[in-house]
Amino acid sequence: MSSLPSFMTMYSELVAVPSVSCLDPSWDTSNKAVIDKLASWFETIGFDVQVNELDAQKGKFNMLASYCPGGDTSGGLLLAGHTDTVPWDEGRWTRDPFSLTEADGKLYGLGSADMKGFFAFVLEAIRRLDLTTLTKPLRVLATADEETSMAGARELSKFANLKPDYAVIGEPTNMAPVIMHKGHTTECVRITGKSGHSSNPGAGLNAIDVMHEVIGELIKVRATLAERYQQPAFEVPYPTMNFGHIFGGDAANRICACCELHLDTRPLPGMSLEDFYALMHGSLAPLQDRFPGAIDIHSMHEPIPGYACPADSAIVQLAEQLSSAKAKPANYCTEAPFVQDLGCETIVMGPGSINQAHQPDEYITLAEIAPSQDKIEQLIRRICAA
Ligand SMILES: [Zn+2]
Repeated sequence: MSSLPSFMTMYSELVAVPSVSCLDPSWDTSNKAVIDKLASWFETIGFDVQVNELDAQKGKFNMLASYCPGGDTSGGLLLAGHTDTVPWDEGRWTRDPFSLTEADGKLYGLGSADMKGFFAFVLEAIRRLDLTTLTKPLRVLATADEETSMAGARELSKFANLKPDYAVIGEPTNMAPVIMHKGHTTECVRITGKSGHSSNPGAGLNAIDVMHEVIGELIKVRATLAERYQQPAFEVPYPTMNFGHIFGGDAANRICACCELHLDTRPLPGMSLEDFYALMHGSLAPLQDRFPGAIDIHSMHEPIPGYACPADSAIVQLAEQLSSAKAKPANYCTEAPFVQDLGCETIVMGPGSINQAHQPDEYITLAEIAPSQDKIEQLIRRICAA
């Protein structure tokens, strides 16, 4: 394994290669250069590497690196992370986001915490292991487009025979286990009415009037959800629905012909998205009958379900023991619900702090590097060399 670059070299090289994902095409960048680097490093240490281009996003790639003792692909540990970053705020970074810079006991760089750096930690942990002592598969998954559509995590079934017992997603949690988070959906309700002179309401269909009724129904749905679903581990222990954006109409003396509302919902883990959509669409169905063709409701992105891993799972117990930290919920979304669909006990635990994620001058502290490397190494040993 002597040809694997040093930890700091790998870390710097991962940060140096831009892999911004953004719905704005002028920012969006392929993650191929990061995937290529990871693929070559994992091949160097004897891993079998598969790279898949996404069906949903051409030019974006997922990578799976596998070390399967005796060729047995089932079980073992999957360490997972995303290769993309958010865009950076040009005026607010005081350093070059693509140059890993050490200062004040910190390493600064875009993706240093969230989360390209995680792959350097994983490679460093593996470098210290004698791979011949592993008895169970060790795999590393690197995904694309986590920051936008989670398109990469939605295409994991393309990796044949990926059936780990346990998965750890290395998002920045200061190496404390995160075992649940809410999901996320964004819906758009568009009312198409009919314009006309304000003096004769019957000559048109006022979209704002219809929207008023729609919002009334949605507020009832919100109350029903909060009544029906509760998870006391969360600070806000019920599913939320937020009306975040509304626009419509152009002049006070015209019947408003079009009105649009954008709403964000945060479903709880264990709450099926089918139930949620059935409730929401069901509540609007009588209005859709009353105003044929006037009310359209559609999702503005693919929904992300909630996620939870039972607190008594073996992986949670092990992670709590290694980290000396109690498992807790998070208030952000991760790829965990999709990774969990592989059929494995899944937690989120990685170096760095979520407080630095998506922030200018993103950093990880030097002090947490060695302990985090140790914990990742222990995690692999306890699962794959047991
Ligand atoms: Zn992240």
